[in-house]
Amino acid sequence: MPTPSALGFTPGHLLGCVSGELGLREFLEAQGHELVVTSDKDGPDSVFERELPGAEVVISQPFWPAYLTAERIAKAPKLKLALTAGIGSDHVDLDAAIRAGVTVAEVTYSNSLSVAEHAVMQILTLVRNFLPAHEWVVNGGWNIADAASRSYDLEGMDVGVIGAGRIGQAVLRRLAPFGVRLHYFSPMRLPTDVEHELGTAFHPDAGSLARSVDVVSLHAPLHPQTYHLFDREMINSMRRGSYIVNTARAEITVRDDVVEALESGQLAGYAGDVWYPQPPETDHPWRSMPHQAMTPHVSGTTLSAQARYAAGTREVLEDFLAGRHIREAYLIVEGGELAGTGAKSYTAGAGVEAGRGA
Ligand code: NAD
Repeated sequence: MPTPSALGFTPGHLLGCVSGELGLREFLEAQGHELVVTSDKDGPDSVFERELPGAEVVISQPFWPAYLTAERIAKAPKLKLALTAGIGSDHVDLDAAIRAGVTVAEVTYSNSLSVAEHAVMQILTLVRNFLPAHEWVVNGGWNIADAASRSYDLEGMDVGVIGAGRIGQAVLRRLAPFGVRLHYFSPMRLPTDVEHELGTAFHPDAGSLARSVDVVSLHAPLHPQTYHLFDREMINSMRRGSYIVNTARAEITVRDDVVEALESGQLAGYAGDVWYPQPPETDHPWRSMPHQAMTPHVSGTTLSAQARYAAGTREVLEDFLAGRHIREAYLIVEGGELAGTGAKSYTAGAGVEAGRGA
């Protein structure tokens, strides 16, 4: 749990939005700092771009991210800290931050369990065919055969997790009582006693897992090794009629390959809450593709999670402004290299930005 000296907000209130300001205004202004809060973040005339030259700290949520590209970092010569109010700092070009000596930090663990609950909910939503069944009720019908025609029990299925970190392990723990056969792939193997406790099988790579399961839940960070990992070739190697749930980052999959697989029946369903870009265009194909249960990026921003990431943001700022060390687990980049959680979960080097053609 975060340990700030005080809270400038009431837990349970909306904090992760422009009006909520993460409860930071009084705390920062009392020390003579200026706080600019905006959702106008895209394009050269945006408030974000206009404020960049004078900004020493940029705080962004992953849910409505202020993409801190290499060009933007170059426009911010005073920038010392890029702080994510949540988890997942891929909206920051980490290589550019390393080169510019900018510290990158996030509030590790603040919403891990929130996301794990959402992933389990979306697995069940797809496998049980919940949304079409619910729509029959809303539309005044009672078509049992249509509602049941794509509905299965999760029990007995092979379910795999890619990335057994904080969220991935919490998903494995929550799925174990469903009587599924659990699988995982992560660069660092879990301790043997944890594997036994959860009854989960380790795979040496993502491809081996993808070929062995009915459901894949993605929980790795987006970095060069995971960018476009689930492309047409990987999806086609899965069992026909499998499901993918992605609450990690959209670009771990290839947007149009997912649509194609849903239309052909290779995938029976896709759900998640992460998109690229965010917010997505109104005609983004994931809004209208079949057999999906997408939500906006909300899994990690429940009111419960907001209180934790707002408190963690304040803790990081208190330490940074007092010249103290930022908690090791919150660090992604420091002193020109990956640090803390960043050193364990990310890799640096061209990949994500290069792939986007940025
Ligand atoms: P974590 O750092 O605890 O765990 C990430 C795990 O992924 C680590 O065990 C790491 O070794 C593993 N990993 C790294 N590269 C991999 C690869 N190539 N293949 C497989 N596994 C790999 O992070 P976490 O708290 O569990 O969060 C994971 C990700 O979930 C975040 O980076 C973020 O992108 C996403 N997230 C999404 C939301 C949301 O609201 N949807 C909220 C929080 C986090």
